[in-house]
Amino acid sequence: MRRIVVCEKGGGFGMGQSACRSCGTSLERTFIDLGMSPLANSYIKPEQLNRMEPFYPLHVYVCEKCLLVQLVQFSTPDDIFSDYAYFSSFSDSWLAHAKSYVDMIVDRFSLDQHSRVVEIASNDGYLLQNFVVRGIPALGVEPAVNVAEAAKSKGINTKVAFFGEKTALDLAAEGWAADLIIGNNVLAHVPDLNDFVKGLKVLLRSGGLITMEFPHLLQLMQQNQFDTIYHEHFSYFSFLAVERVFARHGMKLFDVEELPTHGGSLRIYACHDDDISKSIEARTKELKSGEESAGLGQLNHYLSFGQQVKATKRKLLSFLITAKQEGKHVVSYGAPAKGNTLLNYCGVRTDFIDYTVDRSPHKQGHFLPGVHIPIYEPDRVRCTRPDYLLILPWNIRDEVMQQMSYIREWGGKFVVPIPEVQVYP
Ligand SMILES: [Zn+2]
Repeated sequence: MRRIVVCEKGGGFGMGQSACRSCGTSLERTFIDLGMSPLANSYIKPEQLNRMEPFYPLHVYVCEKCLLVQLVQFSTPDDIFSDYAYFSSFSDSWLAHAKSYVDMIVDRFSLDQHSRVVEIASNDGYLLQNFVVRGIPALGVEPAVNVAEAAKSKGINTKVAFFGEKTALDLAAEGWAADLIIGNNVLAHVPDLNDFVKGLKVLLRSGGLITMEFPHLLQLMQQNQFDTIYHEHFSYFSFLAVERVFARHGMKLFDVEELPTHGGSLRIYACHDDDISKSIEARTKELKSGEESAGLGQLNHYLSFGQQVKATKRKLLSFLITAKQEGKHVVSYGAPAKGNTLLNYCGVRTDFIDYTVDRSPHKQGHFLPGVHIPIYEPDRVRCTRPDYLLILPWNIRDEVMQQMSYIREWGGKFVVPIPEVQVYP
């Protein structure tokens, strides 16, 4: 459920020109440089094929002081992300995830009609509707007007705003100081991280709690998920790094869960640092020591990630080169943002992949940004009978293999690029 909260403007992007989004230290150490890449969701219409296409640096740094992994600032036109909107309710599995979260949190923290729940980047109200049916007062904060309208039409109280200290002060004055603040897949998209977290502190009632979900950097590194890096993801969090940001604003993390969503996410639980009603759960300590033993407390560990990524690129290219030399017909499945990072970084165009297919009618008839691979509907695979089907959304590979299992009728094979190239007959 990736979405944009605000566009980032201005700022230089030379070496050492930018400051850490968390602690302000000058950014000098590269985590991974994926080169120049188009915005991952800027699919190309046929009439745009002969136009100039903007590319931006996809250069990720690690702060040597607080070890926050982050995309360095880059300049964009003012409205670059403005028409991007993602309606969460389109995904069944995500709806189920939201409902089971609400069941759990209401029960565990005894929320009732006297509680106040605020969700940041509430989208179309897919999550908050579960509080509303229980009679628990809930407010969404959503910057995209059209998405907020969709929520309001479902009866979900929604304020159109970007979240930060100012919005938090306004909401508190309007009676929305919160017992529970929720933010799912928003933290990574926040350009002004300190203003955002300060806003959380301002809005949180005494005795209240915050839960936030975000993709876990440990998984990104261990599972080699470098293709989940794209311009709209400004920060890539470990528990250790996020704990430092919350501590700076007078909050502590008292619990954490590991979730399977988005290739492996964390759900953190935060409260005011003087809140003695919540004890620090044992799994918090376990997760931290797990990160430390994996090397996430050491700068050198981050600096070695680039070698692993380059090796993955070489393996994918050598697979494709061999396949083409053998005269094989290769196509791909899906047109996810992560595929655009992978293909642009590896320089894979129609010289290797004839076309891709995607179930979304909004993407069919378009071309992938940068590499200009055409997007068709999935049935095209049945007509052209490819030898290999490269699965770009590797996080749903089992689902794709089931849906497309008929390629085995003509000996077609599946290929999964991440964590490294693997062929499945
Ligand atoms: Zn820092």
